[in-house]
This record gives sequence, C-alpha cells and structure tokens, in this order.
Amino acid sequence: MATDPVRTSFFIDGAWREPAQVSTFPVISPLTEEQIGSVPSATTDDVDAAVGAARSALRRPGWRDLDHGARAAHLRRFADELEARAEDRASTVTAENGMPITLARFAEGAAPVQLLRYYADLIEATPIEERRESRPLPGTTVVRREPVGVVAAIAPWNFPAVLSMFKIAPALAAGCTVVLKPSPETSLDAYVLAEAAIAADLPAGVLNIVNGGTDIGQYLVAHPHVDKVAFTGSTAAGREIGRVCGELIRPVTLELGGKSAALVLDDADVEQTVTGLATASLLNTGQTCYMSTRILVPATRYDTWVDAISAMSASLPIGDPMDETVAVGPLASRRHRDRVLSLIDRGRSEGGTVTTGGGRPADHDRGFFVEPTVFAGVDNSATIAREEVFGPVLTVLRYDDIDDAIALANDSAYGLGGTVWTADEERGVEVARRVETGSFGVNYFNLDWGSPFGGVKASGIGRELGPEGLAAYQHTKSIFLPASA
Ligand code: NAD
Repeated sequence: MATDPVRTSFFIDGAWREPAQVSTFPVISPLTEEQIGSVPSATTDDVDAAVGAARSALRRPGWRDLDHGARAAHLRRFADELEARAEDRASTVTAENGMPITLARFAEGAAPVQLLRYYADLIEATPIEERRESRPLPGTTVVRREPVGVVAAIAPWNFPAVLSMFKIAPALAAGCTVVLKPSPETSLDAYVLAEAAIAADLPAGVLNIVNGGTDIGQYLVAHPHVDKVAFTGSTAAGREIGRVCGELIRPVTLELGGKSAALVLDDADVEQTVTGLATASLLNTGQTCYMSTRILVPATRYDTWVDAISAMSASLPIGDPMDETVAVGPLASRRHRDRVLSLIDRGRSEGGTVTTGGGRPADHDRGFFVEPTVFAGVDNSATIAREEVFGPVLTVLRYDDIDDAIALANDSAYGLGGTVWTADEERGVEVARRVETGSFGVNYFNLDWGSPFGGVKASGIGRELGPEGLAAYQHTKSIFLPASA
C-alpha cells in the first residue's frame, strides 16, 4: 500500500477540506487485526459542505451543460490518472478488506478505469436529444435526456472501488455530480480516487467524498439537496433507504444481497464444474453479492457432487491476501467473521453436516480467517440455505428433476445471480430463462460492463452497468412541437 494510511481531510469541492470536528475512525487490517491507518469521520456539517459543493457544481457552467465530447474527455483524463494509481488502489483495498491481490488488481485496480472509459465512449455516442413523430395529433416531440442532479452514492466494503465506480462513471457521464460515502471498513482507497480526480483536473465539486457509518449514510440519503440515491449494500439497509426515498419521491437504485443458486445438470462434467464453482461460488472469499452458494445437484449423484465440491473447497490456498497464490484471504472484519461463524453454528444446530471446513483454520490464529465450508444433508428450508452468509460457505442441495431444480432455485427471497453447469449450452440457456433473477451465467459467471446488472425480489430495484446504468442517472423531458402549417 503506497497511499498515506493516515488521512485528516475530506475531498470536497475539488480540494482537501478539514473536517468540521476532529474525530477519526481506524482502518483495521483483517490479516493482522492491527490498526493500519485512520480517516476522519464526517459530521452533518461536512455532508452539508459536500452536497453544497455538488449542487454548486451542477449549477456552474462547465459540467452539466458540456457537450458530450467534452464530458467524455474529462472522464478519459480521470481514467488515465486512475490507471496510473491502479496498483496503489488495489493493494490498499487488499490491506483494508483482505481481498486476494490478484483479484484486487483486476476488480479494484483495472475495472474502475475500464468503466470510466466505457461510459466516456457511451456518452459520446449517445445523442442528448432525439425527435419522434408525435401521435395522435401530427407534430414532433423532442425527447431530451437530462442529468438527474446531485447523486448520493453509498458503497459497501466488499468491492469498494469498482462498486463506487458502477455509480460514479455513469453519473458523471450523464452530467450529474456525486457525493460518495464509502463503507467505514474501506474508506482509505477512496483517497486514491480523490488524488486521481485532482490530477485529472475534474471540475471542482463534481465528485466529493465523505466518510462515515450508518448515521452519516442516513443523513446523506435524506438530504434535501440530493436528487438521487445509488446504494449497494445489505437488503436490511436497502429496505430502509427505499422507504426514505419513497417518502421523498426520490429516485433510488438498490443493489442488495443474494442467495443465488448453481444448477448442476445431469450432464455436467465434474472436474470442469467444480473448477468453475471455485470462482462462481467463492470469489473474494465468498464476499461477493452474486455468488452461487446454493448448489443444486441431481439426487442420484448427490454424494459424488458433495465429495467433489468439498475437495475443491478444501484445496483452495488460504493465507496472506498479498500472496499471489492465495485464493482465500481473511474476511473483512471481526464483526463479519463472527457473523459468518454464527451462521455455520446455526447450520450445524439445524442438522447440517459439515463436509469440509467449519471454523477458523488451525494454522491462522491471527486474522479474520474462516475455512471454506461445505454443508450437506439439509434442505432448502434450512437457514444456511436461505440466508445470505457472505462468506466462504456453500450448501449442497439435492433435486429430483429439472422442474424440481428450478422450483428450488426460485424458492428464495432473493434473485440476483445464479449459474447453470451443463455440457449443452442451449439447455443451459433454457434453464436461465426459467430462473427468477437479474443475471445468470452458463458454465461461468462474469459481469459485462455493457449489459445491465441488478436484482429482482429482495436483491434490489434498478440496474447498473450498460446503457441502462446510464439511463438511471438521466431524466427524460418531452418537448412537444406542433406540425408546421
Ligand atoms: P451495509 O448495508 O451494512 O452497508 C453498505 C453501506 O451502506 C455502507 O457504506 C454503510 O455505511 C451504509 N449504510 C448502512 N446502513 C445505512 C442506512 N440506513 N442509510 C444509509 N447508508 C447506510 O452492507 P455491507 O455489509 O457493507 O455490504 C455487504 C452487503 O452488500 C451484502 O448484503 C451484499 O450482498 C451486498 N452487496 C450487493 C451488491 C449488488 O450489486 N447487489 C454488491 C455488493 C454487495
């Protein structure tokens, strides 16, 4: 981590601003359990300053009224400066939340840069106005796409850099201004983002960053000068934010939790499938929202699949996330580790059999580690099959036939991701069509910057990424013109 781990100011109105009151919170290493840095904690005065700066920047000429080419040029300069700091950002995230460094280099280093460039290209190619022939009366309607205004972007700790950029890149491309509130566990890496914004000469107030926990998030969400909220986090917090935005009639995007299913079909190759599941079900030590953590396998070969999935899970190297050979790092925080361990206990107490893992690794008594854990012998009503664990914990469930498998996949409060594993891609696509979810992978799962991502049911409302992710930051305005005489 090259960035300064002790920070004393916020990034507001294009510059470093001293906090209204001196109060800090620590950044704790999940590997050593020791403090590795600190950041200031915002007060409501700091949030007012950040939102005020974002609103002024919106009114000032030189941002929302820029032509799309000029705004795209700003995004590209920002991307270049961020790219120059990609390794710093990635290693900072690894130090903060324990993400394996090889993943962090892509997801937290490279991906935010790619997203800025994707949205720069998209906005440049998207006309601000289109003309439509009107009906029932003859005439023309000009349909304009205008920025929604000041965006409150609230991010979680699991993929802090890229999930912030899911919001910042389309919001800036649309001509909005942003106040970002990172998660308290991962506030440090956002300083690298601010440094890149300064180096790129991003106009003052277009991006502002304040730190804080739930109370500061709540204040920001309900702030009278915020026009839209973009939230990624837990379903519990999303429900509350959705309620507040409902009362305020404030547009909101909610990217929430999941309990996605992997449907393993009877023709799936065992070796290839379990290799794929190592990523589709356990990426970032299972702390990824769309993980396929309920693995549905044919009842006739239940034991074969339980053995293969358990062997794969047990084989993943655990250790220091800065080590490039490590696949399983520590969980992000003590609080989260304890929650995951208590859900494992709950699985056992409800009659589940742990076939591998089940606790803290014996050779890692320091750090918030949990072994990759596999549960067998429960049905879809068990807590371990219904609740999001958000850790390296898989549940293998049996199904009788394909209709049963799809019914089990759909018997969930959530609908975010999911996968199918089969030798026949067309059969996989048929299954994908029947699962109630916002995204689905056939023999793998990977997000696509150009296609929408988001959930149904308790997994959220709205979409990020793709042109749909840009539209989430735009209002349409229809201007009616009569037919010329
Ligand atoms: P969290 O809900 O505890 O916190 C997320 C962020 O919201 C943090 O910045 C937090 O300070 C803030 N916050 C919490 N309560 C708030 C409130 N009432 N008002 C305003 N802000 C509030 O979630 P977390 O533990 O940081 O992240 C893990 C969760 O995020 C998991 O449930 C995971 O599935 C979900 N997630 C979803 C996606 C997705 O795209 N659907 C992606 C990643 C993570």
